[in-house]
Amino acid sequence: MKRSITQFLILLGAVTLACATLTSAPTAIPATATTLPPSPTAAHLTEAEIIKGIQKSLNIYANAYAENDIELLATVIDPDNKPFNRFIKTRFRTEQEGYDGNRTEDTYLVDYIIQREYNLVQAHIIYDEVAAVDWVFRDLQDGTWVLTEPTVEQTGQVMVRNTEYFTFRTYPWADEVNAQVESLMQNARDRVKAKLGKAPDERIEVEIIPTYGLYPHDDPNVVAYYRFNGALNGVGDRMVIYAPNSYLFGWYYNEFGWEIDLENVLTHEYTHMAHQRSFGNEGSMADWIVEGLAEYVDGIDRAYDLVDAFENDEMIPLVDETGSKQDLANIYSLDTGVSLAYAEAEAVVAYIVNVRGGLDGFWRLAKAYNDSNGNLDTALRNTYNISQKEFEAGWKDWLKTVYLPAYTK
Ligand SMILES: [Zn+2]
Repeated sequence: MKRSITQFLILLGAVTLACATLTSAPTAIPATATTLPPSPTAAHLTEAEIIKGIQKSLNIYANAYAENDIELLATVIDPDNKPFNRFIKTRFRTEQEGYDGNRTEDTYLVDYIIQREYNLVQAHIIYDEVAAVDWVFRDLQDGTWVLTEPTVEQTGQVMVRNTEYFTFRTYPWADEVNAQVESLMQNARDRVKAKLGKAPDERIEVEIIPTYGLYPHDDPNVVAYYRFNGALNGVGDRMVIYAPNSYLFGWYYNEFGWEIDLENVLTHEYTHMAHQRSFGNEGSMADWIVEGLAEYVDGIDRAYDLVDAFENDEMIPLVDETGSKQDLANIYSLDTGVSLAYAEAEAVVAYIVNVRGGLDGFWRLAKAYNDSNGNLDTALRNTYNISQKEFEAGWKDWLKTVYLPAYTK
């Protein structure tokens, strides 16, 4: 059966939109330059020939996914760009994990191409007339076009620009989107402030990276992260986001463009900063409090995951009574179902806000949770005078009667 476009986007977005809050320095090591062999000009090819070549590789890419064949996939990934090569393979494995390798073969169509510097070609690719990505290819000179990304040198020297609340670090390769990303970041801050009532005054460094090679030791399954530095004045707080128009960014609705997806991711990350800087990181001992709040604010829609899991009784528990920590308090250490866990975390926060005293009720529980040293039952009794069992029953009833019906309408 063919998947719906929404399922398709969620499937791909499940990886793309996962985020991490890092409380210690990420293992970002200054990138070592990757030098690719000089690529003779593709100028002798007509645009139609280039499109034909890229389309052929895309068909192989789709086939590799359908057949769960990583060796086949490898034939259309740049063999000389090692960090990117590893990145694509890791994403492939992660995406196939959730799908058991039983995928129907998708059809991707090259809509148009833009010939960039260094003989790289950026292709706008459409799936099912709805979803779009912008991927970069280069010609291996034997008729094979491989998926690639610019090297660190090709990405260009970092440019730094300060505004009132942000220090932007951007790269010349992404010049066509940099100004817009900056304005989306400001929108994101406005949204966080409107929703939570407060936003940090401290300035944060925001880096928009168009290539994985810039930070080849970052987790390839994370599209963005916020790092709290701990300094009182906010110096060193940092967000890293993958640039739109890159493989890293992932699929978006062709009709609406990447802007809203990116603004939502920026809103998510900035919520983490606001939580840390403006709300004292209350409740941070439970991952669902941290990620649930960010999901509640960010506008990213994952409820499809929740609909299925609820119907099939495959929810990730709020508290894993077996002690193996496969629960919402430990989202970052879940073996599987991370996107579902984010969806559930958001739904718990939404329940509290709607039924248990608004955002004030949420912050009271968050504080009580840390005060009780991570004992949810104690925190709930101290906050709402109910047990964990009663809370869970109330939450599930609300999911069934209010939250999920509104979603599936
Ligand atoms: Zn997050």
